[in-house]
Amino acid sequence: MNNYFIILASGQSKRFNSNTLKQYIIYKNKPLFEHSIEKALTSKLFKKIILVVNNKKQIKNKFSKNVVIIKGGIERSDSSLIGLKYIKKFKPSNVLIHDAARPNFSLQLLKNLVDSLKKNKAVIPTVNTKDSIKYKVKKQLFNLNRDHSFSTQTPQAFRFNDLYNLSIKQKIKIQDEATLFIENNLKVKFIKGENSNIKITYKEDIDTNKTFIGIGFDIHRLIKGKKLYLGGLKIPFHSGLKGHSDGDVIIHSIIDALLGAMRKKDIGTLFPDNKKKFKNIRSPKMLKPVIQIMDKNKFYINNVDINLICEQPKVSKYRDKIIKSLSKLLNIDSSLINLKGKTVEKLGLIGKEKAVACEVIVSIIKYD
Ligand code: ZN
Repeated sequence: MNNYFIILASGQSKRFNSNTLKQYIIYKNKPLFEHSIEKALTSKLFKKIILVVNNKKQIKNKFSKNVVIIKGGIERSDSSLIGLKYIKKFKPSNVLIHDAARPNFSLQLLKNLVDSLKKNKAVIPTVNTKDSIKYKVKKQLFNLNRDHSFSTQTPQAFRFNDLYNLSIKQKIKIQDEATLFIENNLKVKFIKGENSNIKITYKEDIDTNKTFIGIGFDIHRLIKGKKLYLGGLKIPFHSGLKGHSDGDVIIHSIIDALLGAMRKKDIGTLFPDNKKKFKNIRSPKMLKPVIQIMDKNKFYINNVDINLICEQPKVSKYRDKIIKSLSKLLNIDSSLINLKGKTVEKLGLIGKEKAVACEVIVSIIKYD
């Protein structure tokens, strides 16, 4: 095992619209580049792991002594060559070059790359292109046949001497090391890459990971002579829900689910029921400040799933109207809301039509 792993983390992330350089943003609980280091360490395939960065002072080397942090160059290819020059003194047999912006490769892929080097000088993972690609040569447009085109990923694996010799002679700016071999008509072995091994280029690429789930539950007693409100809608019924407010179990559960997903405590903290000013408050009014907290913190709703638990009234009769009302109050498309009716086999207080309960799960996403 005389393998070395070079991780390039010195990019300027020009396409990544953020104050923090992309390689240092927190992704899945840790800075982006750490995922690659940890996987390389776990694989036990490498003698040394070299992290190439813009500014050594920005990173504390808290890893094992086999991890070395060095300063890179202006272009990606400069940093790659600096890394290769650094490891030359160790007389490596093989080297893998990897972009820190791809944190999701598998240990199996690392193993496959190293294994394939036994019979090949350059091994590159590829995936089929998902988009139809056009290209332009001197104002003339061409279609790239999707069946004959594919995307290359990193890590890319090489016999050290072959890559080193090509790299020191290289004159053009290259986007990956495979390019060097291809430009020089040298044989490259392509192996199956991974669709999950995405390159984080734009902020949108990682926002999908900022999804949070919240749960809410509420129950109110039914009493004669009170108006019944469910989901902000007045429902004709002989009884209404007792409570400090209008007792709207659906809205109360939604509020708690949203606060839960945002990790902002609960409805009781926002609206203490010993406060006179909240007496008989309509629930849509209680929802408003919660929506404001969401807007302020750039949270958006993915979906709302509601279980209304009661014997009467029958949910099916009011489902569409309640969803429409909620969609207005939450300011979201009604297709994001689902409402299920649940009876309880006449059991307990709910079964005897003395109470109505509700449970809600929401999923929200944060964009910033
Ligand atoms: Zn309530």
